[in-house]
Amino acid sequence: MTKLLVVGVDGAAWGVIRPNLDRLPYFAKLMREGKHKSLIVKEQVLSPSLWATIFSGKTLEEHKHSNFVIDGKLQARDDIKVPFIWDLLEERGIDVKALQIPFIMPPYNFKCEYMPIGYGASKNLNELEQDTDAITEKALSILKQNPELFIVVFSALDKVQHFHWGEGLVLGWYKKIDTALGMLMGHADKIIVVSDHGFCARGEAKVQTLPEMSADGEKLKGDHHEEAILITKNVNYEIREHKDVFNAIMHEMGEK
Ligand SMILES: [Zn+2]
Repeated sequence: MTKLLVVGVDGAAWGVIRPNLDRLPYFAKLMREGKHKSLIVKEQVLSPSLWATIFSGKTLEEHKHSNFVIDGKLQARDDIKVPFIWDLLEERGIDVKALQIPFIMPPYNFKCEYMPIGYGASKNLNELEQDTDAITEKALSILKQNPELFIVVFSALDKVQHFHWGEGLVLGWYKKIDTALGMLMGHADKIIVVSDHGFCARGEAKVQTLPEMSADGEKLKGDHHEEAILITKNVNYEIREHKDVFNAIMHEMGEK
């Protein structure tokens, strides 16, 4: 049994989850058994900096990792000068694995190997589906080795929502994540499910993170919203903002 499982869902929004709980049985079960709330993003509403904040416990001002590309250079793990939760816990002898954390591209793995189709940059729905299924399988195989802490992030929903917000197929993708959650959640005592940001129609977003048209002329329909989701089970530490997820993991793993 894994002590703590952290499932990140890039772009997951209460606006889709709450009205569809009857079709998302594992989200619903976790919400019933645990606690849930919104985390409101106060820094820039971008995935690379927010996942860095979540897993370093530092603000953007402190970790300075503002985007995938900075000054024309694709950022790598070593460009970020702060330790992440897995670095610190590994040093203390805790068995920790992290799979596909999207603060860099391709997403970062710690003590496991996985390369997404198209280096994690594909927005093709078939490729995203294959990739999501493969990440779920990989996550299950890692959980069967019983690491003390396991962290996995699913990124496909962000891309799907940018291009298909408002379409019926979006709920199908939440159901896919729900199914994955159902497969993973039984393997851990404590669970944290968190998103970096929520989603809304592109015109309603305070900041447009991407141009209206993609490079190949596809129109963007959704964009990032500052209301992110948090669901916890058997986690006592009070999480008020994104960087508290780091503190909560430390606390629940018995390290202060
Ligand atoms: Zn996005």
